[in-house]
Amino acid sequence: MVRKITPLINRFREVTAERLMRHVRVLASDELRGRMPGDIGYRKAMDYSINFFQQHGLQPGFADKGYEQAFTMETCRIVSAGVTMTVIESEPERLKLGTDFICRGLTGNGHVSGDLVFVGYCSEESDFDELTGLDLEGKIAVSFKHSPPWRTDQSPVLPRQKAHQLAARGARGLVIIPNPNRKEQDRLSGSLVEKGDYIPGFPMIVLAEHQAERLFCGGDDTLSARQFRIDANRDVMSGPLPVRMSIRITTDYNPAGVSWNAAAFLPGIDPDLSRESIIIGAHMDHVGIQGEKIIFNGAQDNASGAAAVIELARIFAEGDRPARSLQFVLFGAEEAGLLGSLYYAEHPSLPLESTRAMLNLDCMGAGDGVDMRGREAYPRLFEIFDALNDEFVHMPGTKENHPPGGADAKPFEDAGIPNMYFVGSNPYRHLHMISDTPETLNPSLFEGITRLAYLMAARLSDEQL
Ligand SMILES: [Zn+2]
Repeated sequence: MVRKITPLINRFREVTAERLMRHVRVLASDELRGRMPGDIGYRKAMDYSINFFQQHGLQPGFADKGYEQAFTMETCRIVSAGVTMTVIESEPERLKLGTDFICRGLTGNGHVSGDLVFVGYCSEESDFDELTGLDLEGKIAVSFKHSPPWRTDQSPVLPRQKAHQLAARGARGLVIIPNPNRKEQDRLSGSLVEKGDYIPGFPMIVLAEHQAERLFCGGDDTLSARQFRIDANRDVMSGPLPVRMSIRITTDYNPAGVSWNAAAFLPGIDPDLSRESIIIGAHMDHVGIQGEKIIFNGAQDNASGAAAVIELARIFAEGDRPARSLQFVLFGAEEAGLLGSLYYAEHPSLPLESTRAMLNLDCMGAGDGVDMRGREAYPRLFEIFDALNDEFVHMPGTKENHPPGGADAKPFEDAGIPNMYFVGSNPYRHLHMISDTPETLNPSLFEGITRLAYLMAARLSDEQL
């Protein structure tokens, strides 16, 4: 098939790894402090992207309020964190933040000391009750993060939900430990997602596997032995551990903190079609900084997608105008549970009815291929995508049949807007860990996926759909 290559399509070569990585190195620098929603580091990311939009002649995304959109959310900055562990009959040891433990992003503050008590999965179900009869008064509970494997159908129980159960039984803090036998390994990963109210004075930390192993006596009582007995036999293995812990955490907590979405607008040129638009979006936030010293740089998650949105905005702004309008949106709190994209979808800068498609770019700078999501629901979009890939990019492995609407694409999927999700395949090697730095990205893959996103946006914004 001979297709006309328009000047707009042809500009995909302007997407270069070098330019993309330049943005990533700024967004994922230590100075931006892991771009935690509402934090000064995230604010710097806002200023960087807005300056860039302005310099390249993009219009403000919000007609009345310029390039940014504020929304309120629970924010928590971990100012300092110290943990001392005393394995019975040994000297107390200070654990190292970032290597031995990290804090849950929305941990309570305070100073608590107590004996440790293992609570397994923290299940209170009548057929598997790990808590009843356990003395938790004044103790610090030790729990796996997930729910029991035989309950995979349930939505995940978040640590703060467990903390509510445990606090009601007199516990004073929560130590989350990894599950050594789990297929998907639990790692020392930061998170800002919780459910349920904040519990002041109730610290929540995550312990690294090498330290978690030390909580058990050894011999036939290892962490993996206990987990095996629970998972295989549904044995209740809860009980006191021969370890004391002292946790001291100070936070700057705000139940009504503020974060922002950033958006730029490029009006289309066609008198009719310009009333319609395509959204090209990515979340710019990540899980931040702890104790003012360990930084989750989030190069892959999601400096990569944000850099791609910024570059696509520049390339479209400098070239021929497409027929439809383009909205470039950087969401400001995906890591806290899609709060930025949910707010945007409820308060869009242009009516959602006239939005023809949403392209979500998330974690596309590393991996071993591209893993497009949405094919299952939007075959027509993917027909266009496949033709563009075959003609210009030749990225292998794009044909898997994934459902639509993950992460920031979800609010748009829920609003009935056709969407595509651009993500690397096997993209999560460093997910939410302090090792997610620019050096771990794969620049040529990053360039390829971003070129696909550009081509898709160019075609969708410029042709009959
Ligand atoms: Zn993330």
